[in-house]
Amino acid sequence: MDLGIAGRWALVCAASKGLGKGCAQALVREGVNVVITARGEAALQATAAELRALNPAVEVRAVAGDITTPAGRAAALAATPQVDILVNNAGGPPPGDFRDWDRAAWIAALDANMLTPIELIKATVDGMAERGFGRIVNITSAAVKAPIDTLGLSNGARSGLTGFVAGLARQPRLASRNVTINGLLPGPFDTDRLRGTLAGAAQKSGQTVDEVMAARRALNPSRRFGDAAEFGAACAFLCSVQAGYITGQNLLLDGGAYPGTF
Ligand code: NAD
Repeated sequence: MDLGIAGRWALVCAASKGLGKGCAQALVREGVNVVITARGEAALQATAAELRALNPAVEVRAVAGDITTPAGRAAALAATPQVDILVNNAGGPPPGDFRDWDRAAWIAALDANMLTPIELIKATVDGMAERGFGRIVNITSAAVKAPIDTLGLSNGARSGLTGFVAGLARQPRLASRNVTINGLLPGPFDTDRLRGTLAGAAQKSGQTVDEVMAARRALNPSRRFGDAAEFGAACAFLCSVQAGYITGQNLLLDGGAYPGTF
C-alpha cells in the first residue's frame, strides 16, 4: 500500500536507537524526509547514514540534543522545514519505589514523558491544521493501559499525556483539518531499554540476563518480544493519508499480553 506521504517532513524524536529508529526507518522507506534527534552524536550520525542508505531519495537531518530541554526542542524544530509528521519519543523514567522519589524525580519524568511532547505538539499543531495535514504519534507505553508496578513514574507521566491528548485530538479545529494525534503503546520490544531493565531484574534475582529474557518471552502469548521494525510499520500507517479518520486512539502493540477485551 502506498501510504501517500512521500515528500512530507517528519520530526522523529529520540531516534538513534530502538523504537524511534524503527519509526524513522519506516517513514524513510515511504519517502518521508526526516529530522532525527538523540543525545549521543555518534550513534545519531550512524543512524542517519543508515537511513540515507535505505532511501537515497529522501533528506535526512540529524540534530544532537536533549529533546527534554527547551534548547533541544528548539534545535530540532529549527532543523525541520515544516513538521507534517511528529513522532514524540524520549527515554523512559527509571524504575523504583515511589517512597524514594522526591519532587525532582517526578518533575524530570513529567518533563520527559508528558510536557516535552505537549510542548512539541503546541509548536507544530496549528501549522499542520492551517496546511490541512498533520500526523502526531506519541510513543508511550503499555503501562498506560496496565500499570507496571516498578515503573510508577512512567505510569503517571504517560497517563497524564494520554489524558491531555484525548481531549486535544478531539478539538474540531484539529480533527476537521486532517490533523490526527494518536498513541502507540509498546509492550516488551527488544531494544536497549528493555535489555537494560531486564539486566537490572537479573541482578536482583541472581539469574543471568538470558534466563530473565527467556522467562519474559515465555510470559507473552506470542512467546517473543516485539521488533522495532514492526513498531515502525504501525507508526508509518498512523502517519499515512489512509489513517486520517483515526484520532485520539491508543494502539497497544504487545503480542497479546494485555488480558482485557477492550
Ligand atoms: P532505547 O533505549 O532503545 O532508545 C532510546 C532512544 O532515545 C535512543 O536513541 C536515545 O539516544 C534516545 N533518547 C533518550 N533520551 C533522550 C532525550 N532526552 N533526548 C533525545 N534523545 C533521547 O529505548 P526504546 O526501547 O526505543 O524506548 C523508547 C520509549 O519507549 C522509551 O520512553 C521507553 O520507556 C518506551 N517503552 C519501551 C518499551 C520497550 O520494551 N522497549 C516498552 C514500553 C515503553
